[in-house]
Amino acid sequence: MSVEIVRDLRGLHTSIARHRNGPLNTAASLAIVPTMGAIHKAHEKLIIEAKRNADIVLATIFVNPMQFGENEDFNKYPKSEEEDIKRLESKGCNIIYIPNVETIYPDGFDLSINVPKLSSILCGKKRPAHFEGVCTIVTKLLLQSGADYAVFGEKDYQQLLIIKRLVKNLDIPCQILPIETVRDENGLAISSRNQYLNTENRNIANNINKIIKNAANNYKNKDIESTINFVKNNFLDSGIKKIDYVEIRKGENLDVISNNDKSNARLFIAVYINDTRLIDNIKL
Ligand code: AMP
Repeated sequence: MSVEIVRDLRGLHTSIARHRNGPLNTAASLAIVPTMGAIHKAHEKLIIEAKRNADIVLATIFVNPMQFGENEDFNKYPKSEEEDIKRLESKGCNIIYIPNVETIYPDGFDLSINVPKLSSILCGKKRPAHFEGVCTIVTKLLLQSGADYAVFGEKDYQQLLIIKRLVKNLDIPCQILPIETVRDENGLAISSRNQYLNTENRNIANNINKIIKNAANNYKNKDIESTINFVKNNFLDSGIKKIDYVEIRKGENLDVISNNDKSNARLFIAVYINDTRLIDNIKL
């Protein structure tokens, strides 16, 4: 059966019901893969992981206005619906939900979901209200679909932990499945926003992974402060002019880390290359 495209809640529910009771003729399980479109290799890996765990795979394409700040790239976010559908279908996606803004946020919509502590640090500190937008849309998509599994990438590691907390605290019966960060041949974490980079920008961006990998390899022999300075100095030397943050935190809960207990550490970075904000993280 070819992929089914649905654009409203009724269509979504009908399609899921048909798939759940359809050819599989069993209590088929459903995995959801939320995306903002501009489908790339990493999204395809999410679909493959979804397929590995569930009978039915639902991808969503929605550029969520609620998670963009005023001066961010909502209006220029890349869109390629036709191509996206082909790519998602070729990886075995069964249903693609492409709602419009009115479907998700109808007149009178007045709700936001917040995971305040985890959302107040790292990207949340720099992008106020971003994670509130993410939590609200993810909650809606999980409840609308009733998915048994949802797949998210470690590239957005803070987002992943926030969503795990959200699902746990709201008792949403959905298991969150992470996948590792997918990188291109130069180690750059794949992102829809990489499209904004010209050749010169890309050459600079290609240093990010080398620098954080280097920091990870030397982490044992250094204190926290020296590792952070090492990364910052190398970023500046490689032509990155604007560093948003470089921090080391506990991988399991994003707590701050001290030199007395450097275990389970993760390095988190956000930088601007031209006007493009890139994030990455690595286990130390
Ligand atoms: P986006 O379309 O950028 O909102 O991303 C949708 C999903 O894909 C999120 O779960 C992201 O964490 C995940 N994702 C995006 N880029 C990557 C990547 N390079 N590696 C792993 N997951 C990714």
